[in-house]
Parts: sequence; C-alpha cells; structure tokens
Amino acid sequence: MKPAPFEYHRPSSLADALELLADLPDAEPLAGNQSLSILMSNRLASPDHLVDINDLDELSYVEADNGSVAVGALVRHREIERSGTLAQALPVFPEAAGKIAGPVVRNRGTLGGSLGEGDPAGNYPCVAAALEADLELASAGGSRTVSADEFFIATMFTDREEDELITGITVPRDPFPPARTGQTFLAVKEAAQTWPTLSVAGAVRVDDPEDEEPVLEDARVALANAAEVPLRVPGAEGEIEGEPLSEAGLAAAGETAYEAVNPEEELHADETYKRELAREYTKRALTTAHDRAVA
Ligand SMILES: Cc1cc2nc3c(=O)[nH]c(=O)nc-3n(C[C@H](O)[C@H](O)[C@H](O)COP(=O)(O)OP(=O)(O)OC[C@H]3O[C@@H](n4cnc5c(N)ncnc54)[C@H](O)[C@@H]3O)c2cc1C
Repeated sequence: MKPAPFEYHRPSSLADALELLADLPDAEPLAGNQSLSILMSNRLASPDHLVDINDLDELSYVEADNGSVAVGALVRHREIERSGTLAQALPVFPEAAGKIAGPVVRNRGTLGGSLGEGDPAGNYPCVAAALEADLELASAGGSRTVSADEFFIATMFTDREEDELITGITVPRDPFPPARTGQTFLAVKEAAQTWPTLSVAGAVRVDDPEDEEPVLEDARVALANAAEVPLRVPGAEGEIEGEPLSEAGLAAAGETAYEAVNPEEELHADETYKRELAREYTKRALTTAHDRAVA
C-alpha cells in the first residue's frame, strides 16, 4: 500500500515549524521517519500535511552541567549511542540507544520521534521514566515542561497537543553522581533488529562504593513493553533502598515487578512469560547497576 496524498513542508527554523503546526489542519511532524512512514504506508496514519523538522539545527544538542543533562529532540540514536558527554553523565542513555534496532534505524531515528510516538515498548520512554526526565514542548503560543510520568498516557497516546513539538528533554543529574552510581539498560529480543519483548532501565546510587557493604541510597527501575505506559516500579525500588543489596531484597523487588506489570500478549510471549521476564530482568538490572556503582 502507498501513503494517502499529503503536502510536504520543510521549515528552516523552529519558529517557522511551530507556525506551520499552528496554521495547518491535520499536520504531523516528521523527524527520522523510521516509524511514521510505516504507519502512513499502512494507512494507519494519513496526515494532510507533513512538517519535516530535519533542518532545525537548534534541536540538535547534548549539554551537561552540574545539575542536569539536556538532549535535543533531533539528536539521532547513533549520536546518543556515541556521545562521550552522555557516557560520562548518564550512561544508561547510550546503552539504550545502542539497543535500538540496527544501524540504519539508529542513523536516522531521533530522540523526539521515539518519545513522540508514545510507544510503551520504546527504549527512551523507559529511561525517561526511570530517571524522572522532563520533556520540553513548544508551540507558537509558548513552551511548557511535562514530566515523563505525566507525558505518557496510554499506548501511542501522549500529553502532546497537535500544534506542539517536543524540543528536548532534561534529566536531573543530582541523584546520580557518576562516582557512586551504576546504570544499565537490558533488552530481551527475539532478534537483533526487532522491538524488545521486554526491556528494563535500572539505576542505583550507593553511599560509599569503597565500603564492603555499601548502602543503596536510591534505586530506580522502569520496564518497557510491560504495560500501556513505560512503567516505573517504585515498590521494587523500595524493596532494596536503605540497606546493602541482598538476595532477599532482589527477590522481593522481582516479585513486586511481577505483580506490577500489565503486559499485552504477543505471538511469542504470553502474559505469564512477560511477568516472569519482568521479575527476572528487574533483578538483573538492579544487580548490574549495583555492581557498576561499586566497581
Ligand atoms: C525495525 C525497527 C526496529 C525498531 N526497534 C526499536 C527498539 O527496539 N526500541 C525503540 O525504542 N525503538 C525502536 N524502533 C523505533 C525507532 O526508535 C524510531 O526511530 C523512533 O521510534 C521514531 O523516531 P523517528 O525520528 O524516526 O520519528 P518519525 O518516524 O519521524 O516520527 C514518529 C512519530 O513521532 C512524531 N514526532 C517526531 N518528532 C517529533 C517531535 N520532535 N515532537 C513531537 N512529535 C514528533 C511524528 O509526528 C510521528 O508521529 C524501531 C524501528 C524499526 C523500523
């Protein structure tokens, strides 16, 4: 099948793009086109206008200061995967980017496109939920900030208004000073280039990595493709916080994740299997993050 007819627009500035989104009826932003073209070719999306944002250089940035990390919406998966700034400040981001599909998708796909499509199986939405990221949204009328927690509402349904663009995200660094922090992103896949059956973002901060039994001051875990939104599991985090990591704490965290998820069945993964993956991969992610924090 071919896409329904549409008009193509290629603005050269953010202000022009926002004007187009405000003025044109049924207009959709176009970024890396790794998802939208599939939807349009199958007539699951038929926008009248496409606003191509690939010339908006002002949305291509990775910036870190002591308090936060900011990543622009037009940064490609490949750039995130290879960013030295992110590897140092928030290593879960490059790890998550490197597990998206194959090189072709990673060369073109963008952070904003991944967040914008609102797929609860997506890697970045899961990382954003775990790290309490804020999404920056702009329209011709102004800009606003929405927490990841509030942005993802249901499968393929977000808080974004039709005339808004995601311009980037901001992630607080304070909870995760690199010297006392471990992070990881694990994905269970049927094949290297497919979407994951389930994935998990984990992060841990310990009080003293030199101590024989460092106490976990802060733990984060979020699961992708396990519910209709990227699912943070605070109950699992609470099972291991405030004490050194133990088998009992990990087992309780895994059980909490097993109960918390509400996964959709797939051809190769029924609900029970996905719950078991959630239990096992929650434990693995927290163990890996802990081991990296104390390494
Ligand atoms: C074979 C294959 C495997 C994949 N596997 C994975 C995977 O394992 N994990 C994963 O996370 N992703 C996966 N993806 C998806 C990939 O990450 C896409 O690149 C991404 O989801 C969409 O980004 P894009 O820049 O291509 O967006 P586009 O396809 O251009 O747009 C996607 C949607 O987002 C909207 N949009 C784009 N930019 C913005 C913006 N700045 N503000 C608001 N809305 C915007 C568009 O209007 C559209 O609705 C896979 C894709 C393919 C084809």
